Amino acid sequence: MVKMINKKDCTGCHACYNICPQNCISMQSDNEGFRYPIIDMDKCIDCGLCDRVCPVLNLEKIQNKPHAYACINKDETIRIKSSSGGIFTLVAEIVIDNGGVVFGVGFNENFEVEHRYIETKEELEKLRGSKYVQSRIGDTFKQAKTFLRQGRKVLFTGTPCQIGGLKSYLGQIYDNLICIDIVCHGVPSPDVWHKYIEYREEKVGLPTQRIAFRSKNEGWKRFSVSFLFKNNIEYQKTLDKDYFMKAFLKNICLRPSCYECNFKSLNRQSDITLADFWGIWNVLPEMDDDKGTSLIFVNSDIGKSMIKQIRHKIIYKEVNIEEAVKYNSAAIKSVAYNTKRVDFFNHLNDYSFDRLVMKYCSDKLLIRLKRKVKFIVRVILIKTGLLRIAKVILGK
Ligand SMILES: Cc1cc2nc3c(=O)[nH]c(=O)nc-3n(C[C@H](O)[C@H](O)[C@H](O)COP(=O)(O)OP(=O)(O)OC[C@H]3O[C@@H](n4cnc5c(N)ncnc54)[C@H](O)[C@@H]3O)c2cc1C
Repeated sequence: MVKMINKKDCTGCHACYNICPQNCISMQSDNEGFRYPIIDMDKCIDCGLCDRVCPVLNLEKIQNKPHAYACINKDETIRIKSSSGGIFTLVAEIVIDNGGVVFGVGFNENFEVEHRYIETKEELEKLRGSKYVQSRIGDTFKQAKTFLRQGRKVLFTGTPCQIGGLKSYLGQIYDNLICIDIVCHGVPSPDVWHKYIEYREEKVGLPTQRIAFRSKNEGWKRFSVSFLFKNNIEYQKTLDKDYFMKAFLKNICLRPSCYECNFKSLNRQSDITLADFWGIWNVLPEMDDDKGTSLIFVNSDIGKSMIKQIRHKIIYKEVNIEEAVKYNSAAIKSVAYNTKRVDFFNHLNDYSFDRLVMKYCSDKLLIRLKRKVKFIVRVILIKTGLLRIAKVILGK
């Protein structure tokens, strides 16, 4: 049976659940809303397969020489609908054009976040866009294996730990498998997400029809969370003002394993890694129009071949990987543990969502003041033209 002792060692990747020949492992939510394997000991035959496929217990050390690129999908409509530069859609289209299957993350009818597969380009919009919640893998590893054995191309996208889980579950190399992972900040609790949807719906008294975590209406850098409710009532707030994004970015509601992630590395199990190219305005300002620029790592020959196939549809430039990661430490470093996390979860049901976030995620007064002063000074400098002069003097 699964030897996991510490919650922080289980990423919830579902590899053990998918491999169990007795179907005696179920993935059950704990009091924070994160799923963990629970074994029905009456059915368990002690075959040890679950231990053997756990990607954390059997951590694989990869050595590859990734190349990093700044990338933009030339199709602006798709780019605007995507979180970063819209590269996922292009790779997925190649797979579908070749009769393949694409696994990724979408919403179900209750806006719960889950993995699923699609086989047509029309369905791609269901997977497009980041959902900042831990997704339920369900039976998708088993489904992917079935397609792989049929000889169909399979593109599987997910967090690095989910790709680790899939590879470990498959246990062999498939030439028809392409894996894309993301640079991952960490994954928030599905229960916190559920509470947030309830809060939003209560505020307007209407059910939700559509949600986007990364609306670019106010730009890519200051992206917004947006809800469309029945009767076309809309909600939209930028990442610094939206309560769910505040909780996410304060690292208060992430899975315990995210604070000591075993999958942060430049040596990844995926073929391609996708990320936002934060800092592009410093590295390659000509590739920053605030509509979204992707940072991609090409980690394998399969990855190289996929990028070659989409190269006429993208604007791209190779960059120094160390320089790129300087602005995106989530690629190699886990986020810091928030010391108020336990209190946040203990009081999840005691306060309304806005009060909960204001109580546990607000910056200290001094930090808020400092930020305000910095903002005012910047505005004064811009208005008086002094900022440009200062930049010229400092050579920035
Ligand atoms: C939880 C999470 C944390 C992230 N943290 C960072 C970060 O710290 N820094 C950074 O640069 N980029 C981060 N990203 C990646 C970034 O937001 C974009 O997803 C990525 O750059 C791809 O963008 P795109 O424009 O190519 O395509 P899009 O169409 O936006 O890509 C969507 C892809 O993301 C996958 N996806 C969506 N939601 C999830 C999910 N919950 N779990 C797993 N896969 C999912 C979809 O299956 C699809 O493959 C994160 C993404 C997620 C989901």
